[in-house]
Amino acid sequence: MNMDKKGVNTTCTHTGELEDIQFKGAVSPLYMSTSYAFEDVDIKRYPRYFNTPNQEALCKKLAALEHAEAALIFGSGMAAISTGLMAFLQAGDHIVLQQTLYGGTYNFAVTQFEKYGISYSFTDGWEVDDFEKEIKANTKVIYIETPSNPLLTITDLAGIGQLAKKHGIVSMIDNTFASPINQNPIDFGIDVILHSATKYMGGHSDICAGVIAASQEHMDKVFQTAICFGGSLSDYTVWLLERSIKTMGIRVNTQNDNAMKMAIYLNASEDVETVYYPGLENHPGHALAKSQMKGFGGMLSFELNSEIDASLFFKHLKLIKPSMSLAGIESTVLSPTKTSHALMSPEDRKKQGIKDSLIRFSLGIEEIEDLVGDIEQAISKVKSMAVPA
Ligand code: PLP
Repeated sequence: MNMDKKGVNTTCTHTGELEDIQFKGAVSPLYMSTSYAFEDVDIKRYPRYFNTPNQEALCKKLAALEHAEAALIFGSGMAAISTGLMAFLQAGDHIVLQQTLYGGTYNFAVTQFEKYGISYSFTDGWEVDDFEKEIKANTKVIYIETPSNPLLTITDLAGIGQLAKKHGIVSMIDNTFASPINQNPIDFGIDVILHSATKYMGGHSDICAGVIAASQEHMDKVFQTAICFGGSLSDYTVWLLERSIKTMGIRVNTQNDNAMKMAIYLNASEDVETVYYPGLENHPGHALAKSQMKGFGGMLSFELNSEIDASLFFKHLKLIKPSMSLAGIESTVLSPTKTSHALMSPEDRKKQGIKDSLIRFSLGIEEIEDLVGDIEQAISKVKSMAVPA
């Protein structure tokens, strides 16, 4: 058996596990030390140097899952994203950012880059040409998100990878929405992979963490910036995250199935105006998603018909929680206008097509019949309350 080519669930479960030599326990031991010997050892270990035994072990699993040579684990997705961006940008540089992005990344760009003398452009759309149009002589990074938050737009990974190589630019992706179970952008030529591990990797809404994975050469650069910003993750949370990732494959595959079934149900419902899910054939990015994703993901967005009040709908849900964040094993919904994209101006939200009535739906692992039942009862409650004209 070729152990270099393991299945994804085997990688999730076993890659990078630490052996409990003392007691032969089934799981990796947890090493909480912040101080390690410096004499007669090869590696000077320290948590902010990202090289404690548990950090190192988890990073092997993360690199294997993203088909990367190396990875680092951070204290949040934004710690990973900000460190990753600042590792490849300096004063005088320019970056091209995709139009639809996670609100925190957008906020980072518009509030921080100027302070460091970095200029930026957002694309007008998601086509490769939209990115090429924005490239200048001093462009150093292209930054994408696919599927994007919250409209699930799809960007061409191979096209962006080739474009970046043609211009000698580093390409970066936020791969949070897909997770490494559904998409491995390195296989399509993208250089640097970022994750909010708070989402599918953690999977239980109880861990905040971030990841960068790339070639060793790129990670050496990231490391030099990472030790300055100091956004490392505590070993206890690293250990918990290693435990969570063991079940990521089975969780995400169930979430993929639920999202597909929910998208089909919502698409056929007369109470729903629009459904955004790349697994649906009517989604403009469906064919592209099919060619670059192994599963369409557990996230979708939708708009109810205008006569159904979205905030009343949230109030009447019994099982699905209206709550922040996403990707836990429990299904959740939120209004991007009030949460993830609240920091964006109404004009910019409008430009991106994010309506106030948009509902972002993170599918969990519950039975689909229970989820559909909850949606149906909440809609019928709201409709029964509507005052006749
Ligand atoms: N990227 C995406 C797509 C996200 O949805 C989020 C958070 O919601 C982040 C990055 C930021 O991650 P964190 O909250 O772990 O800093």
